[in-house]
Amino acid sequence: MVGLSELAAYSDRLLSVESFNDYCPNGLQVEGRADVKTLIGGVTACQALLDAAIEHQADAVLVHHGYFWKGENPCITGMKQRRLATLLRHEISLLAYHLPLDAHPELGNNVQLARVLDLTITGTAGGNQRTPGLVMLGELPDPLPGHAFAARLAARLSRTPLHIAGHDAPIKRLAWCTGGAQSYIEQALDAGADAFLTGEASEQTVHFARENRLHFFAAGHHATERYGAQALGTHLAEHFGLNFIFVEIDNPV
Ligand SMILES: [Zn+2]
Repeated sequence: MVGLSELAAYSDRLLSVESFNDYCPNGLQVEGRADVKTLIGGVTACQALLDAAIEHQADAVLVHHGYFWKGENPCITGMKQRRLATLLRHEISLLAYHLPLDAHPELGNNVQLARVLDLTITGTAGGNQRTPGLVMLGELPDPLPGHAFAARLAARLSRTPLHIAGHDAPIKRLAWCTGGAQSYIEQALDAGADAFLTGEASEQTVHFARENRLHFFAAGHHATERYGAQALGTHLAEHFGLNFIFVEIDNPV
């Protein structure tokens, strides 16, 4: 068991939240009971995850996608009211880490995805002005043709990726960024990658990939961002002796 404030302070420090300028607050977003024994992890703090937290009698929920995004309607009505009311009524805290969880050099979504796919990390590139270096660069130790790498994605992530074929040579150099990072495809090309992997695709991403003969894979926003919250939750459970349960709420996007 750990005090909520100690858990939040430790996590904030571990993920260096102070050095990120994000689109949402990082850390404790909703305050519940003072002590945490059971922590529920998930990708997004959707209602189904909150319902699972109640079922498991959790004290806190840890996610990558929390609430209070820049530009959203700030009024607490409808879906937002129901979610917040659920947390407050049951005194369950919400801890959310967005960009700091993407970028963490050990527990982050990008690094954890590399482990799942057996990619060797060689560096970072691009990112945006807020967060430089959000695109990871690496290599496939065993260079694979595009269709074979698509098959690996399907097998490891349990979903068929969208694959826009690039050049005919095997893929060796890869760039990737989990989630909705399709706009970083240009940075992947500039970095000399054979392929770019992210979660989602836009209409224009397809043309960019085709015309630059760069392999492009969209393997799912949710599917590529499952691993950071799991790694962070497992770390916190070991550090503080907590009961951590990751709940997979399937999302086809
Ligand atoms: Zn995301």
